[in-house]
Amino acid sequence: MYDVAVVKYEKPFESLKKAVDLAGSLGDVSAGSKVVIKPNICGWDEGVDFPKYGVLTTARLIEDVVILLGEYGVKDITIVEGVTESEKESESLLQLAAKGMGLDILSGRYGVKIIDVHKAPFTKVTAGNVRLSVNTNILDADYVIDMPVLKTHGQALVSLGIKNLKGVLNMASRKVCHNADQSIDLNYHISKFPEMVSPSFTIIDGIYTLERGPLPSGRAHRSNIIIASKDLISADKVGATILGIDPQTVPHITLVATNKGRPTDLRDINIRGEIDIKTALKPHESAFNIQLFLERLGIKGVTFPKIDRTLCTYCAYFMDYVVSGILMASMGKPFDDIEILTGKIMEPSGVHKHTLLVGQCQVKKNGKNPLINHRMEIRGCPPSNKDLVEAYKELGVELPGNPLAWGKTVTEFFMRQYIGRPEFDEAFFKIR
Ligand code: SF4
Repeated sequence: MYDVAVVKYEKPFESLKKAVDLAGSLGDVSAGSKVVIKPNICGWDEGVDFPKYGVLTTARLIEDVVILLGEYGVKDITIVEGVTESEKESESLLQLAAKGMGLDILSGRYGVKIIDVHKAPFTKVTAGNVRLSVNTNILDADYVIDMPVLKTHGQALVSLGIKNLKGVLNMASRKVCHNADQSIDLNYHISKFPEMVSPSFTIIDGIYTLERGPLPSGRAHRSNIIIASKDLISADKVGATILGIDPQTVPHITLVATNKGRPTDLRDINIRGEIDIKTALKPHESAFNIQLFLERLGIKGVTFPKIDRTLCTYCAYFMDYVVSGILMASMGKPFDDIEILTGKIMEPSGVHKHTLLVGQCQVKKNGKNPLINHRMEIRGCPPSNKDLVEAYKELGVELPGNPLAWGKTVTEFFMRQYIGRPEFDEAFFKIR
């Protein structure tokens, strides 16, 4: 049986310590251990109030883990993360996030190093027929603490301990994961991560949880839950259950469990703590439907088919600009019947006046498709904002200013839902 602690978050440090103790303590870690913490810092927007709730691991819990490691005498602690960059800013997004969250203070206070995956070396690792480039620091660590957020994910259903490991891959490998071949699709690739990086301890941060994740377009809840386990698969099975998603319906969890000869349900898990995992939270919806989102805002004349698993991280972030352009240009009158296709397998419907192909994969797939009436292409991998502006102009979508500014407008739009609600407390995301 595998122990999984599920405790209520009540106080800094004490709640984390309680969860870790119930899960059997850090155990194998010692003063001389080289420890890597892998949080989930999957995005950042500088110069705007970025909605971090349920999207990012809280700075509070990261500092508490560092303090706990200090009790074991550990001195060599590194935070490793790789935030996807769409268009380069002068500093990397991880550097900006580290400053914004005060993680850089941990360096002065406890000697913690922060490593940006995209600026560090990679090692090629093979698991079965999958070969990916993995950050070398995490592979060299004696002890890895995986710190995902308790959140849903539109493509993978949940993004917990297993999925969080994607952030240590280089960008080329992340693209490979979103394979168009359904027999080796995103879920198949995610299921190989634990064979490449094996966390010693998983702490799922559920102070805030997220529906329709994994990005700020979702809806966060203050849930005050910490899940802790020495066993990655068990932590994820319990995390999914708390979100109201049967782990047996999450393809990557069932693949990992089956590969290890483990049951896909909870029968090999011993829950420790005071929380009933079946009733702790209202079920969290996982899919974010852009079409529905726009329709609710009364925006007409634009069609977004449901995003599939082949859309990789770069293009997923680029979609922020595609959608924000529509939001910015919408002035109450309908667009001229535009269909927007993404990823590697979407097909045109043949019924729309214009079809916009986003990214090199779509251009390759449908660049000559006779079903398309009027085609516009945004080439590139990743596609560029400049080409998006040009394409929109040709489609009669007139936009003001710089696309980077549109992204900020949409970020502010998603932040509005939390303003004036005291349970959404920025202090959880800021070390002082
Ligand atoms: S064009 Fe987009 S979907 Fe295709 S490989 Fe590049 S980033 Fe991925």
